[in-house]
Amino acid sequence: TSSFQDVPLAPPDVIFHLTAQYKADTFQHKVNLGVGAYRDDSGKPWVLPVVKKVEKIIVNDPTIDHEYLPILGLPPFREASIKLILGPDNPVIKEKRVVATQTISGTGACHLGSLFLSRFYSKSSVIYVSNPTWANHKAIFSNVGLEVKDYVYYSPKTIGLDINGMLESLKNAPNGSIILLHACAHNPTGVDPSQEQWKAIADIIEEKKHFPFFDCAYQGFASGDLDRDAWAVRYFVNRGFELLVCQSYAKNFGLYGQRAGCLTFVFKTAETAAKAESQLAKLQRSEISNPPAHGARIVNLVLNDPVLYAEWVDNLKTMSFRIQEMRRRLFDKLTALGTPGTWNHIVDQIGMFSFTGLKAPQVKVLKEKYHVYLTDNGRISMAGLSSSNVEYFAKAIDDVVR
Ligand code: PMP
Repeated sequence: TSSFQDVPLAPPDVIFHLTAQYKADTFQHKVNLGVGAYRDDSGKPWVLPVVKKVEKIIVNDPTIDHEYLPILGLPPFREASIKLILGPDNPVIKEKRVVATQTISGTGACHLGSLFLSRFYSKSSVIYVSNPTWANHKAIFSNVGLEVKDYVYYSPKTIGLDINGMLESLKNAPNGSIILLHACAHNPTGVDPSQEQWKAIADIIEEKKHFPFFDCAYQGFASGDLDRDAWAVRYFVNRGFELLVCQSYAKNFGLYGQRAGCLTFVFKTAETAAKAESQLAKLQRSEISNPPAHGARIVNLVLNDPVLYAEWVDNLKTMSFRIQEMRRRLFDKLTALGTPGTWNHIVDQIGMFSFTGLKAPQVKVLKEKYHVYLTDNGRISMAGLSSSNVEYFAKAIDDVVR
């Protein structure tokens, strides 16, 4: 008998399971609104033109080899990542209070950031996450021994932010708690705080001496404007918080499988930053030795070249504007059909995902009758909509809510 015969069978990952069901469906007009990856208007994955161009440069560069990167990653990539998220002239850069570590995309940044906190943050081992949040957050944080608790975030009644509930939860959390915040394009709801609401959130976090843990997986992808999507993070940094930010280049560069990301910490002093950097290197060494090179090289070339950078911004606009267009068209169709209920949230929400307000039994009918695949909580990925299926989807919604 195996020493592992008592290993319990784990349930399949919800999203990957949904994709498998979609693939097995032979219906011609099936629609996949589960997966969190960008699709173009013909439903295909999109390699950014600027990425294609830069890959050619890399392949033809005789100086590039397959040696290991340094433990903390490609140095100019790390510097450019700091500038991208904090703004190039942020004083904390000159003051040497920032440390960036190249990570295995955003997931790896969440992991390394929380691992570091579990070792070196003495005030708390509890991290508060929004209810709901990206499903993987809980798994990542509990894996490193942090206790995961919820704060109020989404109101099913308004299909929007419950700001009072959120502020109340943050007030009630013990002083010094770690607070996970989605920098922009909240996953799964698509509901972000306004700038006024961010200020109120910062006030309480300051008063309670909490530690802000930003997850930024959609910079530039959310609004098409890199600075706007980084506003909350920069606001907190300008107010003098010690904090960390997880950056992912999966969505905004379309580099999903390349695993390019960065963990950026802002500390109170340069001295702490230097010590923390040495510990981050030590942790990274034991976990992955050194991060993968190809994706970081692509990002590095683009971020450090003004012409390529401008082209990237253009590519970002293509993606985010298509998504905004799909929001608009879905909303217009539902309004034209006179579908019962209010649908403003479809256009008010931002980013890849949208909480539709549809309930599990309605989702079931969408799947069984219409071959439309989405998660039971009513979340849809806007990227799965296109000119050829948005009307079909609107009619299906209209049917299930009547
Ligand atoms: N955080 C959030 C909120 C996300 O939505 C994602 C992508 N689904 C990630 C982090 C990280 O993804 P990746 O590891 O592919 O960068």
